[in-house]
Amino acid sequence: MKPFDLTGRVAIVTGGNGGIGLGMARGLAEAGASVAIAGRDAAKGAAAAASLGERAVFLAADLTDQGACVALVAQTLARFGRLDILVNNAGTNLRKRPEEYSAAEWHGLIDTNLTSAFFCAQAAYPAMRQAGGGKIICIGSMMSIFGASHVSVYAATKGGIVQLARALAAAWAADNIQVNTVLPGWIDTALTRGARTDLPGLNERVLARTPAGRWGVPEDLAGIAVFLASAASDFVTGTAIPVDGGYSVQG
Ligand code: NDP
Repeated sequence: MKPFDLTGRVAIVTGGNGGIGLGMARGLAEAGASVAIAGRDAAKGAAAAASLGERAVFLAADLTDQGACVALVAQTLARFGRLDILVNNAGTNLRKRPEEYSAAEWHGLIDTNLTSAFFCAQAAYPAMRQAGGGKIICIGSMMSIFGASHVSVYAATKGGIVQLARALAAAWAADNIQVNTVLPGWIDTALTRGARTDLPGLNERVLARTPAGRWGVPEDLAGIAVFLASAASDFVTGTAIPVDGGYSVQG
């Protein structure tokens, strides 16, 4: 038995057209999986899918819409015939003090980061149950553990996704579906590049606080994706695993 082998498996990676999602999708593809990457930006998606090779496809979807989550699963099943792995990675942030958010901004962040994960998991469940099992990987954040003044809504979504994964893990364990969350530390992507520019001193603070002494890169998330998507993690469910260069353990 090769515990990390994903040959013949089919994965959906939401937001897999860039950043952490693409790093995870690459890990899954290199381990043998066929991968459907989903996002809104078709040009970015086509380039990302091409870089993953023949067993990858880009599917355009705005996952704030429940119907789009259902369609994403249906299109993946039509293309590849089965679904074994769902990575709920699509997400965004909007930095403001709590008193400054509008209702629309609150709902936009909740829908993108949390509601999409729930509806994608709900859409994926019948196919996974039919396949005899499955793996759902959610993406939290250091803001699943800590708080900070300008990320109240983001932190609510990232705390919520850990609890969502735990509840799904409990509900679907009998169907042999494992559900876990990855908590990335500071990773160099489009999302954090903006923050690095906007927040003077952020780069230095991240470097000083991270024992590994560097920012993460999307490729740092490939290994955990393969582990949590493969038979190697069949007795691991409902947990949240930091991949943070030690950021969350530094006193
Ligand atoms: P990116 O901005 O590079 O990636 C976010 C991805 O989500 C994009 O590919 C985007 O695709 C997709 N996306 C956003 N909104 C939607 C939507 N409505 N429908 C479909 N796809 C959508 O950022 P990261 O790679 O950094 O972020 C990925 C995840 O990791 C997020 O959940 C983020 O919160 C989390 N994270 C990131 C950290 C970091 O340091 N970078 C740290 C901790 C967590 P498109 O542009 O095509 O819409």
